[in-house]
Amino acid sequence: MNVPRVETTRPGHRACTTRPQRLYLMLTRKAFRYRVYPTPSQEARLGEWESALRWLWNLANEQRLMALSRPRDGRKYYTAFDQMLELTPLRAEAPWLADVPRDVCAQLLIELDQAWQRCFKRIARQPRWKRKGRDFISLTEPHPKMWRLDGSNIRFPKLGILRTVLHRPLEGTPKTCTIKRDGDQWFASIVCEIELPEPAPRTEPVIAIDRGIVNVTADSDGKITTSPRFYEHARKRLARAQRTVSRRKKGSKNREKAKLRVARLHRKVRRQREHFVHTLSAAYAKSHGIVVVEKLNTAGMVRANRGLARGILDAGWGQLVECLRYKLAWSGGTLVEVPAHYSSQTCSDCGIVDSKSRRSQSEFRCVACGHADHADLNAAKVLKSRANRSALPVEGSSLDAHRSRKAKKKLRVPRGQSSQSPVL
Ligand SMILES: [Zn+2]
Repeated sequence: MNVPRVETTRPGHRACTTRPQRLYLMLTRKAFRYRVYPTPSQEARLGEWESALRWLWNLANEQRLMALSRPRDGRKYYTAFDQMLELTPLRAEAPWLADVPRDVCAQLLIELDQAWQRCFKRIARQPRWKRKGRDFISLTEPHPKMWRLDGSNIRFPKLGILRTVLHRPLEGTPKTCTIKRDGDQWFASIVCEIELPEPAPRTEPVIAIDRGIVNVTADSDGKITTSPRFYEHARKRLARAQRTVSRRKKGSKNREKAKLRVARLHRKVRRQREHFVHTLSAAYAKSHGIVVVEKLNTAGMVRANRGLARGILDAGWGQLVECLRYKLAWSGGTLVEVPAHYSSQTCSDCGIVDSKSRRSQSEFRCVACGHADHADLNAAKVLKSRANRSALPVEGSSLDAHRSRKAKKKLRVPRGQSSQSPVL
């Protein structure tokens, strides 16, 4: 998800000093996103700032790349602070950059540094060049004293008052304010620090969710949610809009308009999916203490399985788990990830693993005990039993046991996994 409407980052814990011991407050960060309506002159200036920051990002990125490509003894790893020191002489030379508030420039260099740190830790790829029309730039004012709420509007440095629709009240202490373009619309995202009493840990009730393509979720309580397939529904309209773009003359006004239409359609699909994922995960987090999901490498699956990729992405698997994780954390619940292997071929009743048990996409009938169920619901029940290994009767004593040793090894769940899962 590009911009989740509500997000939390690393909830820190600290003791409350004014109350008796043992009561803890949870310090979380929550982002509130509001639509802003800049005036034409403000919008033009924001556009110029975006260009200036894109230029700064690419320049700073190039500096890092040059320093990294040197031979080992002369190599230099730039930090955000190193690059910030060069900001003053640079702004003196480049008047278009000097127009952007200094804090906003500095924050961009911090973001670049964070992107490189993620790359060094092998979490993400190398930071990309920012290209006009492809990458949006966010303007973040990190210091709470430099911007403020003026009535229901936002007063941003150098821009003055931005007309804002405060459709919901802010909570906690506002910290940073980020202005970002989304196609032809502008949004301000305000991150607030909120101190909440830590929720009482909940371990009941337990539910397992199996994710699929045809059915987004099937849970161990027997509920199946079919995939809304927003992208599939919009495909025809998107294809038509994209054809219009390719017919229009390059560099023309009409081509720009056609492009905007494509972007709007994509935005609509994205928002439909976000809404769906948020409602679904909120319902589970509200009604259950522990939610069990299978551990899937979504990014890897998308890469390996081009044919399925569209379905996987359209179903919003990755987003669903991320939403569940933080929503459960807020309500005192836990997300448990269990190994996914053979969950669709295992019988939830007797634990026998056999590929013949799964008769079709939706039908499961065990070859050993005759237990019949919807295939997705059966898989969800298997996942639930995996969260508590001791409760499972005989999984692993499989009919396929006579097959090669390699296949047998695959069926075994690593020891560490079972000791990690909480006692239910
Ligand atoms: Zn069975």
